[in-house]
Amino acid sequence: MLITQLKQKEAIESLVQGKTLILNCHGCKEVHFPEEEAVELQKELSANGDVTAIVTTDYICNPDHLALQLKKHMDTISAGDTVLVFSCGVGVQTAAKYLEDKKVFSACDTYPLPGFQGVTPLEFDCGQCGECYLNYTGGICPITACSKSLVNGQCGGSKNGKCEVDKDMDCGWELIYRKLEKQKKLDTLNYPTKIRNYGNPDAE
Ligand code: SF4
Ligand code: SF4
Repeated sequence: MLITQLKQKEAIESLVQGKTLILNCHGCKEVHFPEEEAVELQKELSANGDVTAIVTTDYICNPDHLALQLKKHMDTISAGDTVLVFSCGVGVQTAAKYLEDKKVFSACDTYPLPGFQGVTPLEFDCGQCGECYLNYTGGICPITACSKSLVNGQCGGSKNGKCEVDKDMDCGWELIYRKLEKQKKLDTLNYPTKIRNYGNPDAE
């Protein structure tokens, strides 16, 4: 079981960069999602006129399902600047891969909760680190796409794009760098790394 929590309101407001489509996941049984809170905030975000559409669906972590749900919104997405995703880290990574040329941001952080984690086979994984880095790393998770879960860049051991720990695996940090380079967004890598809170924010 995971829990997603909205980032600070000011942080989310700063992610509405130009014309923005909001992608809102209903959640699933493995993820607790603060849907009412999210819907209220999305209404406020819509008031400034930059939000072009709010698309609510379930299982955005399933790439085929996501493609189907976004089909009729692709013109709006193409004409816009940003897609702001309200979901767990897996959903954001799936959307960022599908909309490779767009700025895809996460409005949420994902935390672990004890219990059943679900068995759905997914392309991406979220390490539930509690402070999502996807907004800095082009929607590629540095915790799960890097064998050492490095949050401050490549270790230097990568060869021909492959990880030094597992030669069958692409180096996550090389993927992050190449994607941001293509999007001309390498400056986003200058983010501050700090000690993270991996705990459940609602726990005593
Ligand atoms: S950075 Fe990775 S592990 Fe952390 S919340 Fe985001 S997707 Fe999950
Ligand atoms: S080679 Fe890349 S993926 Fe592997 S540990 Fe180093 S930075 Fe991480």
